[in-house]
Amino acid sequence: MSQNQQTLGRHLERTAKWKRRRTNLASPAIKGIEVTDSIKTSVFGLLPEDFHVMECPGRPEHVFAQIQKFSDWRDGQPNLRNEIRQWIKDNVDFRLPEILEICSSTDGATKVALELTDGSHIEAVHMPREVHNPRVTLCISSQVGCAMGCVFCATGRMGFVRNLTAGEIVGQVHVLLKALGPQHPHQLTLVFMGMGEPLHNLENVHRAVRIFNHVSGLNISTRRITLSTAGLIPDMNRLSKLHPRPWLAISLNSSSDEQRQKLMPIGNTYSMKELRLALDHWGLLNGEKLLIGYILLDGINDKPEDAERTADWLGDLRRVSNVNLISFNEHEGCSFKAPPHETQERFASALKDNGCFVTRRKSRGGDVSGACGQLIR
Ligand code: SF4
Repeated sequence: MSQNQQTLGRHLERTAKWKRRRTNLASPAIKGIEVTDSIKTSVFGLLPEDFHVMECPGRPEHVFAQIQKFSDWRDGQPNLRNEIRQWIKDNVDFRLPEILEICSSTDGATKVALELTDGSHIEAVHMPREVHNPRVTLCISSQVGCAMGCVFCATGRMGFVRNLTAGEIVGQVHVLLKALGPQHPHQLTLVFMGMGEPLHNLENVHRAVRIFNHVSGLNISTRRITLSTAGLIPDMNRLSKLHPRPWLAISLNSSSDEQRQKLMPIGNTYSMKELRLALDHWGLLNGEKLLIGYILLDGINDKPEDAERTADWLGDLRRVSNVNLISFNEHEGCSFKAPPHETQERFASALKDNGCFVTRRKSRGGDVSGACGQLIR
C-alpha cells in the first residue's frame, strides 16, 4: 500500500469515526447534547472522496470545486443548491481564519495577521512580483509557533503551540487570495516558509498540498508549491514517496556541524552528512530543483571558507540546486547582524567559483517584520 493510500486510509477511518460519533450525539439516548463546532471538520480541508464518504448530497467533485472557488462565493455561501448548503451547515465547519491586521511594506509586500477559530494567531506574507506576467508569492504558515528553536528566528522563540489543520492551511490561502489577489490561481506561487516546520505537520500539510494541486480546486502545479524544512530527515523520506510532491527547500544556514548545532538545534539530531544523504534519497524528478536556503549572519557563517565547504557538501547536487542567499533580517531580541554588502558579495562569488548556482533572495516586508525569520504572534 502506498503512503498516499495509507494517509487516505487514516483520514477515512477518522471520518468514519466522526460519523459514528455524530450519530451517537444525535441519537435519542443522549438527546439534549448539542453537537458543537469543536467536533466539526473544516469544509476547506475536504477532498472529493471525503464528501463521498460523509454522504454529502450532490456530486462530490462538484461540491469540492464549488467550495474551493471561494472567491466566487456570494453572501458567504458557495454556489450550491440549498440541500447541499444545508448539509454543509449541519455537518462541517465553514468558518475561515479572520484577518486581524494588514501591514504594507514599502517594497510592495504585505504581512497579514490572521486569527484562527480557536483564537490562535498566525502570519502570512503576500509578495507580488512585477515580471513579464504578474505573479504573487504567498508565504504561508503551517503551525502556530514552531518547535525547532532556530536561534536566529523570531517564530522559534515562541515555541510550539499547535499544528494547523489542513482546512486552516487552505483557508489561510483563500482569505489572502480574496483580500489581496491574484485573481487567477495560476498566477500564484505558494511557499511553506511562514510560521512552523511544515514536516512537523506533514499529514495536514500534505493534505493541503493535494487540495491546492487538485484539478477541480485551485489547480496549482507542484512546481509552484515549495516546502521548506530545517531537515527533519524521516519526514523528508516520507514526503519523497508521496504524490503530489511539492518542491523541497532546505534551510541550511551553516557549513559545518559545529555551526549548525549552535544555530539550529536539529543539527544535534541529524548531522550534515545525514542531511546530504537524505537529499540523495529524495531523488529529484524531471525538471525538479532543490532549493538550499542560507541565511548570512555577520561573522558567523559568512566567510569564503564557509562558501567552499557548502559547495563541497552539495557535491554533485550543485548542478540541480539553487543556493538561495538571504541577508539576515535583524529583529528585536536577537543579537545577530546582517553582514556588510561586500562580505555577502564575496560569499556569493566564492560559491559561484565553486560551481554553485546562486540566487540572492531579497527578503521582503522587513519594515513590517514580515521578512524571513521575523514572523511572530
Ligand atoms: S527557521 Fe523555520 S524551522 Fe527554524 S524556528 Fe523558525 S520557523 Fe521553525
